[in-house]
Amino acid sequence: MTDTPLIGRLVVCGVGLIGGSFALALRAAGAVGHVVGYGRTRAALERAQALGVIDSIADDWQHALAGADMVLLAVPVGQIAQVMADMAPHLAPGTIVTDAGSTKRDVIEAIYEKLDGQLARVVPAHPIAGAEKSGVDAAFATLYQQRNVVVTPLPENDRDAVERVTAAWQACGATVRQMSPQEHDRVFAAVSHLPHLLAYGLVHDLAGRANAEQLFSFAAGGFRDFTRIAGSHPEMWRDICLANRHALTAELDQYLAELAYLRALLIGNDGKALEALFAEAREARNRWADKAFPT
Ligand code: NAD
Repeated sequence: MTDTPLIGRLVVCGVGLIGGSFALALRAAGAVGHVVGYGRTRAALERAQALGVIDSIADDWQHALAGADMVLLAVPVGQIAQVMADMAPHLAPGTIVTDAGSTKRDVIEAIYEKLDGQLARVVPAHPIAGAEKSGVDAAFATLYQQRNVVVTPLPENDRDAVERVTAAWQACGATVRQMSPQEHDRVFAAVSHLPHLLAYGLVHDLAGRANAEQLFSFAAGGFRDFTRIAGSHPEMWRDICLANRHALTAELDQYLAELAYLRALLIGNDGKALEALFAEAREARNRWADKAFPT
């Protein structure tokens, strides 16, 4: 007799890096029976099937959702409201819906607007794992191992639905933490969205200069590390920055004030204060890195 998997039939809408890795991780854990892929382009889904990420392709929501136990929405956050509107008429009461969106307040607004009949079973979440690569070819089974996943449950959620989404991410090797959507969006504006904005901004500024070629020809490891995330998916980051623009603007203002302070130290030739600031930042950065990425 074989054990029943945690999720009998999983639908992944948006089989890219995040959705594809979720499917692969659940498969590796023996936690899923059948994975249905639903997406924007047929060619990408065929590729996902050829790679063994999904078992079958659905051409419409009606077929995708027939008999589904769980649906993961892993499309750019700007697409989520439309996707929810399209799926709503075909969603059975027992099916659990979750998402992987990098922002939560906008996704939750869409849930209340488009899936208001299903609030007990729609559990918002965000895996804190990723890469600057996108698409199903970038997906891998261990992406979520020892990573955090933030779940921001709705007051209307069934406990069972929250537990099942939690169990799915745990089966992928992740640690699940709960937060309010407001806190989530403020925290990730500071530690994720702002760094992406800065990396894109710096590269864009240099690339637009008359001597850009010369500048890039001398850029080395430090520049590569600082700008790695400027290689991320533009559509995805457009959506994230716009969806979280209020919290992100507040973070940007705070950062501009820090830059103004740094500028004043340079103009004042204040080596003592500059070194003290660098030392504090180095200490905080190393303490964080040792904890977050122990060797
Ligand atoms: P991706 O580009 O690798 O995959 C997205 C997939 O969604 C693609 O296959 C695309 O064809 C499909 N898609 C786009 N619009 C669609 C639509 N309307 N209907 C159906 N399919 C559609 O992107 P990704 O990195 O996997 O990101 C997916 C989600 O995960 C985003 O919401 C993002 O905010 C979130 N996320 C990304 C990261 C990261 O670092 N990449 C980390 C955490 C969360």
